Amino acid sequence: MSQESNDPGIPVPEELQGQLAITTLDKLYNWGRRSSVWPMMFGLACCAIEMIATAASRFDLSRFGMEVMRPSPRQSDVMIVSGTVTKKMIPIIVRLYNQMPEPKYVLAMGACASGGGPFKEGYNVVDGVDKFIPVDVYVPGCPPTPQALLHGLITLQKKMDKESVLTARWYQKGVTEEVPIPLLGPDLIDPRDLPDFNAKLTQQAELQSQGEQER
Ligand code: SF4
Repeated sequence: MSQESNDPGIPVPEELQGQLAITTLDKLYNWGRRSSVWPMMFGLACCAIEMIATAASRFDLSRFGMEVMRPSPRQSDVMIVSGTVTKKMIPIIVRLYNQMPEPKYVLAMGACASGGGPFKEGYNVVDGVDKFIPVDVYVPGCPPTPQALLHGLITLQKKMDKESVLTARWYQKGVTEEVPIPLLGPDLIDPRDLPDFNAKLTQQAELQSQGEQER
C-alpha cells in the first residue's frame, strides 16, 4: 500500500504502525477495477494497428492490467473504438456496446472515431461514434501514437478513481437502458429520432413505474 493510503488522517497507535493499513472502500474498489480494465478485442481501421502496437512488448499494456483483450463483449470493460466508423458498422458497434456488462466505458481512439476524421464528409461514414454511444475519453490524432492511447487509458483510470460505490450508475435501481440499434436505410436512421419510438419509450416507462408501485 502506498504512503497515501496509509495516511487517511486517522491516528494509528505507534505499535500498530507498519502493520495496519487504513483506506476507504471506494479507493480499494476503484483500485481493483482500474488495475484490471479489459479492452474488447476489435479494431476498425488503421488506428487499430497502433492499438495492437500498444499491446505489444515495446509499450506493454500489461503494465496497467489491460493486456487481456477479450473477444467477447460479455467479458470486456472498455470498448476502444479504433478506426473509421462506417454506417454499415455502427449497428454492430451499438449492439456490442449493449452486450457489455456494467461498469463499461468507451474510448474513441483517433480523429475518425471522435468526429469522422478525414472521411467526415464521406457518404458512408459516421461523424463520431458519440452520436450513438456515450464516450468517456477521446484520444486525438490520425493515428494517435501508442503513447497517446496509453495517456487516454490513464485518463480513464483517473476517471474511475473519482467514482463511488454509493453513486455509481450500475448500483442504482432500475435497468440500464439499451441504446437503440441504428437502422440502415437510404441513410442511417436513429430510432430515437422517430416520434412513435419516443412515444413507445414513454409508454414503456409508465408501465414499468406502475408495475413497481403495485409490487
Ligand atoms: S484517424 Fe487516421 S489513422 Fe485512425 S482510422 Fe482514421 S484515417 Fe486511419
